Amino acid sequence: MKEPPAKYVLQQEFGELIVPSSKVAHVQPDHSLEHALLVLIKSGYSAIPVLDRHYRIQGLISHTRILESILGVERMEFDTLHLRRVEDVMNRQIPSLRQTDTFQRALELSINHPFVCVEDEDGIFLGILTRKAILAFLYRYLRNME
Ligand code: AMP
Repeated sequence: MKEPPAKYVLQQEFGELIVPSSKVAHVQPDHSLEHALLVLIKSGYSAIPVLDRHYRIQGLISHTRILESILGVERMEFDTLHLRRVEDVMNRQIPSLRQTDTFQRALELSINHPFVCVEDEDGIFLGILTRKAILAFLYRYLRNME
């Protein structure tokens, strides 16, 4: 079967590529850094979304941010992890996608971000779009091109 031209693909929606919210590890802004580190280590990811109680995207938390925040002058202050909150160290400057955005927009964002959060028109978190899913989709598309 002949694949549609690239221009057509870039204008398509990417819904089928989303990892649904039910499968995405996340933490809340008022969780302790100790809890966030546990979730990160157990999930095996280096960064995960931060969502509020209404499932709205607040930012991202990563190993690096947590470890930087407990970097003392002479030692790592691991004993303070349970006292610090996710909202104090999370990255708030993150892009997000709407489910109605085009594949082109998702592709552009994936250049600088290993994953991007997707929200609906009310700002509710739907899931994430990973660079891996985008690359796998493009690979299949290119392989099937005539
Ligand atoms: P991947 O391309 O599958 O390696 O995922 C890229 C990044 O997306 C990971 O390093 C995580 O930061 C994030 N990620 C992927 N899947 C999940 C998930 N199920 N829950 C939370 N974060 C995820």
